[in-house]
Amino acid sequence: MTGLRKTIIRGGLESLYFSGAHAALKPLVGGVGVILTLHHVRPPRPERFQPNRLLEITPHFLSRVVPLLRRCGLDLISLDEMHRRLTEGDFARRFVCLTFDDGYRDTLAYAYPILKAAGAPFAVYVTSSFADRLGEFWWLALEAVIARNDRIGLVIEGKNRTFACASVAEKRALYDELYWWLRRRPTEAETRDIVRDLAACYQVDYAAFCKELCMGWQELAQLAADPLVTIGAHTVNHPMLAKLPAETARAEMDLSRSVIEAALMVRPQHLAYPFGDQTAAGPREFAAAAELGFKTAVTTRPSVLFASHRRQLTALPRISLNGEYQQLRYVRVLLSGSATAMLNGFRRDAA
Ligand SMILES: [Zn+2]
Repeated sequence: MTGLRKTIIRGGLESLYFSGAHAALKPLVGGVGVILTLHHVRPPRPERFQPNRLLEITPHFLSRVVPLLRRCGLDLISLDEMHRRLTEGDFARRFVCLTFDDGYRDTLAYAYPILKAAGAPFAVYVTSSFADRLGEFWWLALEAVIARNDRIGLVIEGKNRTFACASVAEKRALYDELYWWLRRRPTEAETRDIVRDLAACYQVDYAAFCKELCMGWQELAQLAADPLVTIGAHTVNHPMLAKLPAETARAEMDLSRSVIEAALMVRPQHLAYPFGDQTAAGPREFAAAAELGFKTAVTTRPSVLFASHRRQLTALPRISLNGEYQQLRYVRVLLSGSATAMLNGFRRDAA
């Protein structure tokens, strides 16, 4: 994300907060509840080049967010209870679900103790290849290549290109450019082939990311044993599902559920689409998840939940707790639904 975009978002959140508009809008746009998306919860790191910092919040911030949710009058509930409230139309109280994507080790090390002490239920959407130590964190491999080199070479549309990335500013700009270029490749295989070559060329150890960052099955079993924790599915290989052939996309969702069930003896009833935006999951995936029998499936399209979402249980929006904006007042604004309502032009559907 560029500095300017961050400044605009921060300015928007600030003005919604300090004008009081978020409180005024809440009855209109607050909906019935919120699903929050979290990735890493870990102590802050000193590096200046952290293009994926939006995906991490500190344990301290999480420990302040949980009581805030309760102060805001929200019920902290599990995904099963959310499903019950949505399908039965039980909207007497607003609710919030906490969801953690991917199955990072810091979910167990840092988030779990905080949530356990608070008696807060949460869900972990597990990518089975990450737990199997076979996953490809292509966005982290790209970060490592750019972090460790002053210039990198890449073949783009048949031409050899060289990119300077000595300064932090150059690294940030290059990461943004290449990340989104990779996300736009027509096939998932192409994205992965390019980064695999890049990692090999610049001696970045692809397998190390999984081993270092992700829970193995024994660690996941510790979480799964706690009734506060819901284990959900997040595909086998973390692909952009919408770019895969229909049968492959369906198999990614279905197989991850079977692998998790075999390893943890719990059959996931809930699914999160990797990346989760319009380019990664669409109507075809929403229909497949429903046909496969998932009770709910979540995107990363930003919105609170409305009563009407009971008719699209496999296309539920979520709001990310973004590491770039770790202020309780921003969380209040996000919970009110006002920021996402503006972003969505006050539309409520998933299309
Ligand atoms: Zn993910």
